[in-house]
Amino acid sequence: MNSNDKITLHVGLDDTDSTEGMCTTYLTHIILEKLEQMGIKALDYPRLIRLNPFARYKTRGNGALSFVVEIDTSMRDTVKNLVLENVEKYSMFEGVNTNPGVVFYEGEITDKMTEYALNAIYNIYTIEYAEKFAVDNNIEYHKFKKGRGIIGAIAAISIVLDDVTYECLAYRMPENYGTKRRLDEDSIFRMNDETYPETFENIDFEQNYAAIEPHTPCPVLYGIRANNPEILEKARSIVVSHEDMEGYRIFKTNQHTDMHIQCGVDIADMKNTSCYKFKCHVVEAPHDIEGGHVFFKVSDDTDVIECAAFEPTKSFRNIVRKLIVGDELLIYGGINDNHTLNIEKFKLLKMASKFNLVNPLCSCGKRMKSAGKNKGFKCSKCGNKLRNSSKVKEVISRDVELGFYEVPTEARRHLSKPIIRFD
Ligand code: ATP
Repeated sequence: MNSNDKITLHVGLDDTDSTEGMCTTYLTHIILEKLEQMGIKALDYPRLIRLNPFARYKTRGNGALSFVVEIDTSMRDTVKNLVLENVEKYSMFEGVNTNPGVVFYEGEITDKMTEYALNAIYNIYTIEYAEKFAVDNNIEYHKFKKGRGIIGAIAAISIVLDDVTYECLAYRMPENYGTKRRLDEDSIFRMNDETYPETFENIDFEQNYAAIEPHTPCPVLYGIRANNPEILEKARSIVVSHEDMEGYRIFKTNQHTDMHIQCGVDIADMKNTSCYKFKCHVVEAPHDIEGGHVFFKVSDDTDVIECAAFEPTKSFRNIVRKLIVGDELLIYGGINDNHTLNIEKFKLLKMASKFNLVNPLCSCGKRMKSAGKNKGFKCSKCGNKLRNSSKVKEVISRDVELGFYEVPTEARRHLSKPIIRFD
């Protein structure tokens, strides 16, 4: 191979941030800027890949990053060193759960790698498993501290995306980290008016506030999510910031695609820390427990599972409270370590009828009265009697409609597909 031959280099990185600061998207942005200064441009948008939402050591949304460059073989080491130096320089090594991992891979992504990536969304891996996978599949890996980040980094380079969304992340000037973000809220509402539903999750309509800014000391000023990158350029130009921005970057992502949801699994076979979509019927009515959480039970006739709408899902709980035994549902959600299914959204497919038991009506139209124990009913208006009769069902109308219901923006998982994205 001659030094001007081209190679396709996949770069993956993960676990560089902590709750105290940093963000792996920002580190990716810095690296890409430095590569761009050297005349190396990534082949496509960098990718922000959300993995299993139940991963134990995640900082926030379990995101891992990847990008692809096509470079002369002579630049291979320069690019790798640049990535590694910046991970060393910017990672939050002091964070107890910050264990960065970087991977490099040349060539085509194999079916085995794609399968690994999908299972990093469905299941939980160990560092040892990821390390062995890297060795067996010619993936060069670099571990910092425990190096847990290689789990996500391998998945981020390997995943094949059918459905995608895009996120534009704007970054703060370092001197502003940790201070209150100074965004013009009216401009965010205006941006939403002009770009929704091609952009989404901009506003928490329930509490009527702009939901694009994080509430952590990280470098992100705001994030706007959309179906395509073009609308993000428009949306970004409408949002007014009263603080200077360091820059922005558009990422391609599996956010809002329901990629974490597994279909066709019976309740009896469902595992903790996995997410599913399944048809079922309510077998135990919703009830509130301490803390404002609402619990109920459903079955698909293979087993019963407890479902929860937790307090942060706010008004979504009011819909859940209206469910009754016998209602048929299509539920989307994930099972926590206590084997309780945390509902992300559901479709009410069929309503059970709700009724009261009441005395029968007389032929004259008047509601009859009891004639005494086991003596049937009599009409106080015309004197009619019904001897061998019992109470009848009076249907009560249900204060809920068939259709989809989802948790509000603030309580939504990154991977959850909002109803507005359904065809
Ligand atoms: P942010 O969203 O701010 O980037 P985060 O929530 O992505 O933070 P990380 O700091 O990236 O959290 O930590 C997540 C850790 O979990 C990483 O080390 C990643 O490799 C690991 N991880 C990802 N998926 C799995 C999985 N399926 N099983 C086990 N560990 C995983």
